[in-house]
Amino acid sequence: VSSMLAGKVALVTGASSGIGEATAAALAAAGARVAVAARRVDRLEALAARIEKIGGTALRIEADVTSNDDVAAMVGKVVAEWGRLDILVNNAGVMLLSPAAEATLDDWRHMVELNLLALMGVTKAALPHLKAAKGHIVNVSSVAGRVANPGASGYAATKFGVVGFSESLRREVYADKVRVTVIEPGLVRTELGDHITNAASKAGLDQRLATMEALTAEDVAAAILYAVGQPARVNVNEIVIRPTDQE
Ligand code: NDP
Repeated sequence: VSSMLAGKVALVTGASSGIGEATAAALAAAGARVAVAARRVDRLEALAARIEKIGGTALRIEADVTSNDDVAAMVGKVVAEWGRLDILVNNAGVMLLSPAAEATLDDWRHMVELNLLALMGVTKAALPHLKAAKGHIVNVSSVAGRVANPGASGYAATKFGVVGFSESLRREVYADKVRVTVIEPGLVRTELGDHITNAASKAGLDQRLATMEALTAEDVAAAILYAVGQPARVNVNEIVIRPTDQE
């Protein structure tokens, strides 16, 4: 464990797999105490054990971030345990790809409630603590939050929403010395595609993954670590990171 983020407290949502898991591990290795939140507790247990094995400090929090009660309890638990919150990584999300004509309202509602509304709610719950700590908010959007491709309308709507929310938020909270970073990854090899309900869309994603060298979750974690590791005067607002193989 290095001392780069010594004394800092981080909270990562969606830490039970993929980008969130890799980011939590990277923040812990950089010396932050890290609260890891998601619904799959067994996966959080394994991650916490991994962090503790390298001499890091982790706090497991079972939370569905679409639940107001869970969000309040999650933020409350971090502050009760460690007395502060310096870094919030809003990462939990789903990508339920489908052409609009075939999309289900349930899939769209799921994405809006998780990718956008829950990110907004977690931010709001954490904001008083982040202001007190002159902290840092990292919102995981996507290349799909900058480039709207066919077959991804519902997902793009949520990720463009994250970009808009983050930019407005940045211009509100900079005066409190709270930094805001949006991360926009291209294709990353994770469990994200597993939940797609549209068979053709899922096959299309699998095909793309089979024919290109995608990013790893660790590649994205390194970009997040770069942003939060800067001196307090440096506000890295946006990082777009694509696989070299991606157009
Ligand atoms: P994963 O499916 O591996 O991770 C998603 C995480 O979100 C899991 O830890 C999951 O945990 C958590 N999650 C899902 N629903 C909830 C919920 N209701 N409450 C709390 N946590 C929840 O995918 P990725 O790591 O790829 O995705 C992470 C983020 O990165 C997402 O926002 C995604 O849109 C974004 N992204 C991913 C890209 C990719 O190509 N993979 C590209 C660009 C952006 P659990 O199920 O245990 O609750």
